[in-house]
Amino acid sequence: MSFLKLEKIVKRFGDATVIDHVDITAERGEFVVFVGPSGCGKSTLLRMVAGLEEVSEGDIYLDGANVTDTEPASRQVSMVFQSYALFPHMSVHDNISFGLRMAKTPREEIDRRVAEAARILQIENLLQRKPRQLSGGQRQRVAIGRAIVRNPKLFLFDEPLSNLDAELRSQMRVEIARLHRDLGVTMVYVTHDQVEAMTLADRIVVLRAGKVEQIGSPADLYERPDNIFVAGFIGSPK
Ligand code: ADP
Ligand code: MG
Repeated sequence: MSFLKLEKIVKRFGDATVIDHVDITAERGEFVVFVGPSGCGKSTLLRMVAGLEEVSEGDIYLDGANVTDTEPASRQVSMVFQSYALFPHMSVHDNISFGLRMAKTPREEIDRRVAEAARILQIENLLQRKPRQLSGGQRQRVAIGRAIVRNPKLFLFDEPLSNLDAELRSQMRVEIARLHRDLGVTMVYVTHDQVEAMTLADRIVVLRAGKVEQIGSPADLYERPDNIFVAGFIGSPK
């Protein structure tokens, strides 16, 4: 079975069906990118995988177990949002270690894991700063550091670079590709940036109004889009 499997997932908010029988898989170590217009359900899908949102129908399997109704903390899934999700009053060290401190992880282990994440992200010299003393790219590294220290088996990224300027975005895109290579961990990544999708993805899932429109490698979608909608999303960088 695939490392991550979403099986016939339906999500309703009241009368509105926002995810409509979606089947998606990710293999161990794979980098899967979700693209699609605003409101098509990308964030809702990630939130269900993370356990932050209940599914209305269907099942989610992760690493051989059905996790559909399990607690978020037990899933070993880390989610990275846009960088403004940092705690402004806490130092970089305390932002990164927040989840570990909540889980009553021993002090020495916290320090070891924070040091390791800081090394990977090259922010060792920033650990005592507050978020307001960081650049946008540094803040985003801290947000990723917070995910890394939890040692997840699955990373979820929800448009993590969308509030960075173009230059930083391309720099962080390279960093994320390196992180994926170095950690070898499965990643599911939401973006509306074609360049990010084409360069990062092993496979791209094109979503439209709560349904899967097409799934394929970047080359598949670029060369053989099933329809004009997919072609419009993948074909022409904005
Ligand atoms: P995307 O991330 O692709 O922009 P979302 O997953 O945020 O889309 O939203 C998908 C749809 O679900 C949208 O129509 C949105 O308005 C709706 N939605 C998301 N969260 C809620 C909620 N908590 N209550 C009601 N509707 C929601
Ligand atoms: Mg979203």
